[in-house]
Amino acid sequence: LPGLILVATPIGNLGDLSPRALDTLRTADAVLCEDTRVTGAMLARHGVSVTLLALHDHNEGAQAPRLVERLLGGARLALVSDAGTPLVSDPGYRLVRAAIAAGVPVGAIPGPNAAVMALTLSGLPPHPFLFLGFLPAKAAARAAEIARIAAVERAGLAVTLILYEAPHRAAEALAALAEGLGPGRPAALAREMTKRFEEVRRGTLAALAQGAEADPPRGEIVLVVGPPEAGLAEAAAEATLEDQLSAALAS
Ligand code: SAM
Repeated sequence: LPGLILVATPIGNLGDLSPRALDTLRTADAVLCEDTRVTGAMLARHGVSVTLLALHDHNEGAQAPRLVERLLGGARLALVSDAGTPLVSDPGYRLVRAAIAAGVPVGAIPGPNAAVMALTLSGLPPHPFLFLGFLPAKAAARAAEIARIAAVERAGLAVTLILYEAPHRAAEALAALAEGLGPGRPAALAREMTKRFEEVRRGTLAALAQGAEADPPRGEIVLVVGPPEAGLAEAAAEATLEDQLSAALAS
């Protein structure tokens, strides 16, 4: 792949770095990364030594035009974040926009992503889903954001929600979600995925909030909230219809 290449890296287990990702990082002219120490350590474990350049929220705006110049000059640059897929609640969006605008080819090596992994482990309807990233950390702003989601749900939106959250805010975030979306909503908390203490807690928002209060989850977490009951019933009805159709086609 030429141009700018977005490379997904592990979200915990180093074995999840794909051979194609490794090959791309090894042969890039430079690897743009959030934290050169984090990426440097990961690459060192794989025996890769390559030029590392820092690209984070604070310098992306200033760096993007310079990097696009290099790309236009023929450089092959790989972009990674500390963990998972770049751009997803991580830097890179401004650079990708600038590269596309300049006509630079942009490619990606797909791989680990905490949101999608949590969704698949949650036992909740996998689609349609809405990825919200991090909710605001402050209680009032968070409640306002949740109220906005509740309003569109009342207008008929029935989707599974995926959220990133800091572990020390898990209990209060779950309580705020229970308050704003309803305590009985089915939900899941996925913790330390692909790592030694991987755990998925499933239950209602109220039960998960209580559990997080009594036994605070440590490490990294993703929250998944199922659609309002009507949405679940609809998803179930859809499956039945599909089953009926395939049965009819088979006979
Ligand atoms: N770009 C990353 C991705 O593709 O998943 C996400 C980066 S975001 C800054 C970091 C957040 O992702 C964490 O706070 C947590 O919510 C979630 N996360 C990352 N790794 C995780 C893991 N192994 N288990 C659970 N959540 C994880």
